[in-house]
Amino acid sequence: MTDSDMTKTAKTKTSVKQFLGPEPMTGSEGTRGTHWLRREEGDRIWLVLDRQGVSTNTFNEEVFSELDALLDDVEKGHWRTVIFRSAKASGFAAGADLSQFRGVDAGPQLDRRIAEANDVIDRVAALKARTVAVVHGTCVGGGLELALACDRIVARDDTRLGFPEVLVGLHPGLGGTARLTHRIQPIEAMTLMLTGKTVSARKAFKLGIVDAVVPERNVAKAVDEAARGRIERRGAGFGADALNLRPARLAAGRRMRAEADKRAPHEHYPAPYALIELWERHGGSQAEMLEAERRSFAALLPLTATQNLVRAFFLRERLKTNGKGKNEVAHVHVIGAGTMGAEIGAWCALKGMHVTIEDPMTASLSKAVAGAHKLFARKLDGPERLRANDRFVPDVHGAGLRHADLVIEAAPEKTDLKRGIYERIEGAVGEEVIIATNTSSLDLNALSKGLKHPERFVGIHFFNPVSKLDLVEVVRHDGVAEDAFARALRFVGAIGKLPLPVKAAPGFLVNRALMPYLGEALLMIEEGEQPERIDAAAERFGMPVGPVELADQVGLDICLAVAESLAEGLDRPMPEIPEGLRIKVDRGELGRKTGTGLYAWDENGKALKNPVREEPDAAMADRLILPMIDAVAAALDEGVVEDDESADAAMVYGTGFAPFRGGPIEYARSRGFADVASTLEKQARLHGPHHAPSAWWRKT
Ligand code: NAD
Repeated sequence: MTDSDMTKTAKTKTSVKQFLGPEPMTGSEGTRGTHWLRREEGDRIWLVLDRQGVSTNTFNEEVFSELDALLDDVEKGHWRTVIFRSAKASGFAAGADLSQFRGVDAGPQLDRRIAEANDVIDRVAALKARTVAVVHGTCVGGGLELALACDRIVARDDTRLGFPEVLVGLHPGLGGTARLTHRIQPIEAMTLMLTGKTVSARKAFKLGIVDAVVPERNVAKAVDEAARGRIERRGAGFGADALNLRPARLAAGRRMRAEADKRAPHEHYPAPYALIELWERHGGSQAEMLEAERRSFAALLPLTATQNLVRAFFLRERLKTNGKGKNEVAHVHVIGAGTMGAEIGAWCALKGMHVTIEDPMTASLSKAVAGAHKLFARKLDGPERLRANDRFVPDVHGAGLRHADLVIEAAPEKTDLKRGIYERIEGAVGEEVIIATNTSSLDLNALSKGLKHPERFVGIHFFNPVSKLDLVEVVRHDGVAEDAFARALRFVGAIGKLPLPVKAAPGFLVNRALMPYLGEALLMIEEGEQPERIDAAAERFGMPVGPVELADQVGLDICLAVAESLAEGLDRPMPEIPEGLRIKVDRGELGRKTGTGLYAWDENGKALKNPVREEPDAAMADRLILPMIDAVAAALDEGVVEDDESADAAMVYGTGFAPFRGGPIEYARSRGFADVASTLEKQARLHGPHHAPSAWWRKT
């Protein structure tokens, strides 16, 4: 580099710092449109995306038509380099604005919209000038597709890249399938798209997706190098082209299809199959695949499964908003370091809280520390991990209590024992400290009785395993103060969970809905039905785990306790508790945790199942699923949960209820409420009064 080159680089760097990327911008540094900023610098032009009114860039028709107009100028101008960047701190772009995909119908209008968006990206790809995408933070979906249309991609070292479309029932639809399979080794490309996983900038560099990885301070220099043609395209590597030949595609496609089949059946999740077919048929030519991708994307979008998966995405966003706002909890004190307390404490420390955890049994504490360190090792690296270890403090004498902003009690399920604990807490903490219980089955109104300040008492009900299940029910009893309740919701949001406000009632929402499902399965076993067939019926419907296996996972003792409390607390008939369940619990055959329950379990925690003797029928699925849906309807009727969208969201994210069906109420709606109610009536005549439909169906 000559001296004058160095001066130029230094100058460029300063100006980049001043106005580009996620640095704060004042309109004077470039020409601001509505969503795009342009800045001209010699023979270079910067197009910086800053979609108005949102904190994360997403694409919609407006964003594209403004870019289209900008490209008119770019094509006419004398620019040698065009640089794309984002002004948002959150990242380059998160892809299409999914709200524009809701409720679309197949037909020429949809085809036109898809074509118009693609034409803009294709124009970028066809620019004569050298194009450079500078990406940071989130660069996924359409964001990555825009980047892939550029000659070079420079990634800041914090970038995460990927194609999560498959998670909402789609595959990339802005040329991503064709461009990625021709930019990098195609099987790596397909794996990335089929799993929906994101990769770090470094991994993306190794794969050949990005051509340089730099920290922010070196972005300007890297852009300069790219503009001068000094950054090579990483590319696919030697021999990768052969994998795009037809015989290789067919062989690899077969393997991919078998793999996809294991994860999700075709009729429920069509997107992976559509993607495999697209590549198998058209992967030999990028141009042909670009054309075919549009058609395949247009065919997927209106499917009910896709629309429901998109809906599930918005349901998740909706739960997230329950926890928005400034969190005031920094120190959590957990009482009880058993199955739940240990996991709750570890999760809170993982998410940056200072945690003290107490238990009268030192063995529980040591186990909790070991479990927490394992979680941190799985999720964090280097100094981050060490800091998390330091934040998780076993506290034999409960000394941390006095410093806590929130106390979570996760002691055994006994009212008197818990009340005793609350008395001790109240003696040690200020009035503003939130006292929370993780109880699954005890009545919060009864638990709050002995408290001096019941208004700061709430339920924060986590699910097991805490690290896997994102839903947390935040439970209000009659005497709770709105402020304390809101603080609890924000705390749950701050630890990255999805808070659902519910009213104190037996089983809250999720357990109340799950119990009829599990209970019915146990009754069917008593009737002599093969457990594997029962599970298969539910899994074919789309549940992630069948009810027999789930009962074993939860623990038969816990199932029994919740079933008893529901039978006692609800004034609706519940399935009779089968004698077989009590016998198993008495014998200590509690499910996965003891190695035997309804199934035998191997040492890796896998149920040992026999082949299904006879395919289950639809009536069997109805018998299992409809009582669960009816319990959700009853909870809505009693105001346990606010509205049907919240209930659907909770069931999808708390139980894994078939997301491609949109949640229990959406499924009932698609089937027809009258049909659901009349099928339940029929089932009540056949299988007992606990199938009788709730009043909600008639009122809605
Ligand atoms: P657990 O038996 O595994 O753990 C309870 C822990 O509390 C034990 O380590 C015990 O030593 C300790 N303990 C006993 N007396 C105590 C006292 N006086 N002070 C402090 N600690 C004491 O129970 P768990 O399954 O973790 O359940 C705890 C709570 O969480 C219960 O209210 C339960 O309803 C609820 N819950 C459980 C699950 C689940 O799947 N296990 C799920 C959600 C909620």
